[in-house]
Amino acid sequence: MGRLKDIILNFDLGVGSKDKWIIFGLFGAYFLAGYVVEGTTRLFWMHWLSAYVIAMIIFFVGKRYYEEKGYKNVLSFMFPKEIWSHSSTINDCIIAVINSFLARLLYIVMSVGPIAAAGAAGYFVADYLNLTQTEAAPTWGVIIAFTLITMLASDFCYYWAHRLAHTFPVWWEFHKTHHSAEVMTPITLLRYHPLDDLIYSVFRHVGSSVAAGVFLFMYPSIEGATTILSTNIFVFAFNLLGSNLRHSHIWLSYGPYLSYILISPAMHHIHHSEAEKHWDRNFGAIFSVWDWMFGTIYVPKEREDVVFGIGEPSEGYDTVPKLYIGPFIRAYSLMKTPNAYRIGLANKPGKQTEDNST
Ligand SMILES: [Zn+2]
Ligand SMILES: [Zn+2]
Repeated sequence: MGRLKDIILNFDLGVGSKDKWIIFGLFGAYFLAGYVVEGTTRLFWMHWLSAYVIAMIIFFVGKRYYEEKGYKNVLSFMFPKEIWSHSSTINDCIIAVINSFLARLLYIVMSVGPIAAAGAAGYFVADYLNLTQTEAAPTWGVIIAFTLITMLASDFCYYWAHRLAHTFPVWWEFHKTHHSAEVMTPITLLRYHPLDDLIYSVFRHVGSSVAAGVFLFMYPSIEGATTILSTNIFVFAFNLLGSNLRHSHIWLSYGPYLSYILISPAMHHIHHSEAEKHWDRNFGAIFSVWDWMFGTIYVPKEREDVVFGIGEPSEGYDTVPKLYIGPFIRAYSLMKTPNAYRIGLANKPGKQTEDNST
């Protein structure tokens, strides 16, 4: 049994330098055909473009970079070879392809039930509270409120799902797949364990569906949120603010004030940091107000040199099978210990001691 486990976990795709380019090619083709043309994802081409235009501005405005590298090296600043050819990035690409297939097949089926149930729950709550119902067509103000509130509800539920992923040791084992990236590119967005992401998706959809159910009760003729390319217009606008740089080596802060409202890419770098002082901070996706309200915000005052990872030896997380199967094995062993159901922040590896509930 032990030997079989070793064989599975150490299974290597045997990626040589030539094969890497073939994998990149295949990945690129699939990628271009899917995510890049869909406005609903953060990996939509306009969001990549805006992120890298911002990166270019950072290069030329932030003296530190061009003085160090020279004007001509803007491309190597934006797409450094050592990051894009790193084994962590290759794993991200392979996982991204697998997860995109799974996401399309699995999530649609599995999240339909909770969405419908949550929508109905919101509707019945509104009915129970005797909220006023109007047959009149909703005004622009109502439609904007609907767009904003459904986004806020989804983001609020995401915050709590993400916080719980860091709080429950068993769930953390699955969330570690995302956090084990040693270097980051926008593709790291898709480096996650399917089970981890499935729960987030359900939480998120439940949040927006409850809010939608309430609105639907009050304004039965409301057709939906204001969208652009089938995406909530506020989410779309947020993604144009360089949100792809949150998974990159490029530091972008929103400053001392806006960072208390919106999560900046720099704040997500902090979330991915190995350093203990950064653990369990900045759980938000769009709004940082939840982190602010519930005491988990960390707004960096100045640029910090962040090392990405989970502070564990990378051997446990360096092949694709380990990233998919490893969590089940570790979660199974964990479930046999009293630590499995301990609730509390900072349940990170290396901190599995008496002090981790503080
Ligand atoms: Zn996390
Ligand atoms: Zn991340």
